[in-house]
Amino acid sequence: MARQFFVGGNFKANGTKKQVTQIIDNLNSQELPKEVEVVIAPPSLYIDLAVKENKQPTVQVGAQNVFNKPPGAYTGELTAEQILDVGATWTLTGHSERRTIIKESDEFIAEKTKYALDNGLKVILCIGETLDERKSDVTLQVCARQLDAVSKIVSDWKNIVVAYEPVWAIGTGLAATPDDAQETHKGIREHLAKTIGKEQAEATRILYGGSVNGKNAPDFRDKADIDGFLVGGASLKPEFVDIIKSRL
Ligand code: PEP
Repeated sequence: MARQFFVGGNFKANGTKKQVTQIIDNLNSQELPKEVEVVIAPPSLYIDLAVKENKQPTVQVGAQNVFNKPPGAYTGELTAEQILDVGATWTLTGHSERRTIIKESDEFIAEKTKYALDNGLKVILCIGETLDERKSDVTLQVCARQLDAVSKIVSDWKNIVVAYEPVWAIGTGLAATPDDAQETHKGIREHLAKTIGKEQAEATRILYGGSVNGKNAPDFRDKADIDGFLVGGASLKPEFVDIIKSRL
C-alpha cells in the first residue's frame, strides 16, 4: 500500500519571530513537491505567526505539545482547542525531550493524544528508546510499551503518524543506519498489526527521526517501512527543503 511521504519539522524552543518568519519565507519561495505532506512545529508563541505566514498548500502547522484537557485553569498549558483556533492542524505528542526532561508518562502522553484526536487535531506520536535501552536490547519492547499506552484508549489511528526517534540519535549527529531504522520500523508495524489490526498498521505512516539532514535523507529512500522523517535541527536550515525533496 502506498503511504504518502511525510516530513515534519520540529523547531523545538528555537528561533525568534524574525527567524521563524525567515524559515517560512524560505519554504514559501520553493517549489515543493505536491506529493509530500509537510508539517512544521514552531514554538507555541509563533504558531499563529507561522499559520499566517505560510503560503504553501502542502505545508501545515502544528504544535510541539498539547494538554489532555479542555481550556481552563491549567497555568502554562496549551489546549487542542486553542491550537485549532489559530489555524494549526497537528500536534506532536511524546517527544523524547518531554518524556525525559519533563518526565511525561506513557499514560499522560496517551491521554493527550486521545484528547487532541477527539477534538480534531492530527498527531505525530513520538516513540523511541534511550541508549541504555538500546544496549539492553529492549528497543522494540520500549516502543511497544509506548504505543500500547495509546492503543489501549485510541482505536482509530487514521490521524496518527508515528515518529520513531531513538533518543541517542536526536541532536547528536549520529543517525541510525537506514538498515537499523528499517528493522525497527518493521518491528513497530508488526506490533501495530497485532494491536490495532493489520489494515490500520499498513496504513499508518512511521517516520524516522534523529539527526536527519539534507545529505543522509536520500539513504533511507528504499526502506519499505520508513515513510518519512521528523527533523529537528535541520528543519531550521535551508536543507530542510532537500529533505522534503529526498524521495523525488
Ligand atoms: C527531533 O527532535 O525530533 C529530532 C529528530 O532532532 P534532530 O533532527 O535534531 O536530531
